[in-house]
Amino acid sequence: MTVPTGPSSAPVLVVGTVAFDSIETPFGHAERILGGSATYVGLAARFLTAPVRLCAVVGRDFPDDYVGLLEERGLDLDGLVRDPDGDTFFWAGRYHYDLNQRDTLATHLNVLAGFEPEIPPSYRDSRVLCLGNLDPAVQLAVLDQVEGPDGAGPDLVVLDTMNFWIEQTPEGLREVLRRVDVLIINDAEARQLAGEPNLIRAARLIRAMGPETLVIKKGEHGALLFANETVFSAPAYPLEDLHDPTGAGDTFLGGFAGHLARLGRYDAEAMKQAVVVGSALASFVVEAFGPERLLDLTPGAVEERVMAFHRLSAIPEGLLVVSE
Ligand code: AMP
Repeated sequence: MTVPTGPSSAPVLVVGTVAFDSIETPFGHAERILGGSATYVGLAARFLTAPVRLCAVVGRDFPDDYVGLLEERGLDLDGLVRDPDGDTFFWAGRYHYDLNQRDTLATHLNVLAGFEPEIPPSYRDSRVLCLGNLDPAVQLAVLDQVEGPDGAGPDLVVLDTMNFWIEQTPEGLREVLRRVDVLIINDAEARQLAGEPNLIRAARLIRAMGPETLVIKKGEHGALLFANETVFSAPAYPLEDLHDPTGAGDTFLGGFAGHLARLGRYDAEAMKQAVVVGSALASFVVEAFGPERLLDLTPGAVEERVMAFHRLSAIPEGLLVVSE
């Protein structure tokens, strides 16, 4: 079920992976289930807005049922390419008791190794571009192809990356950073990218690399938004039933970008709202393995959780620490 969209909704393009994931957590395991950054980003964004256009590659082994599932959820799949000569990207991970810690057990790039995304003409006027975690060279190739509504490029580019690219392709990543508006990364990646342990100082250094807006995700400790002169802190929803954090970061990104696209506004107030919406959607995805929880979400459930975020962080009125 998806939420009806407003007349000002900006078309969203999501580029990333569509994958098979095998996941082990202290609470269970799942083998070769649907995953990938574009899957989570796309499903989360589509819950909030339309159109949401997907660009990714899958292999000969990718089941039609999964394609049908993405289609049913209302994602535009003109840019989902099937490579008949290889297998779908496969990722396996194991989480520790501290679910913020995970070990990657396998990354089989398969068809992703030769992925040169060609953005379909019908996608090129997209206004909001979500660049999922991919090789910066691929992200640059996408940036070169998206014309936006008037040829000047998209209105908003939102980027995800990870430690692998920070270490392996720092130059390419720097080039991408110069061309994005919003970077969404976790706290460890922010420290690594900036070479600075203090997050506030790290944020200043990263924003000087290009992205005007920065979101630093801190797992179960919420997220920090740096936009204009504003610093905004959103909590994470305290959950008792937490099964699998896979895709939480991507779901956050999809919720964040989807909310902004739905509003058609990218100011600091809209960004603050977007952080809360992204956090709310991410809090659902961790309740089940894979993207399952994203598939049966209802607008009422999301609204209720957003209200819970209000209650979580409301500071009591009339607080005075020094008596008059
Ligand atoms: P997240 O938990 O939000 O960081 O993202 C998890 C998703 O990222 C999984 O569904 C994986 O398929 C995907 N993934 C893992 N490693 C990579 C990688 N190196 N490049 C692109 N996607 C990846």
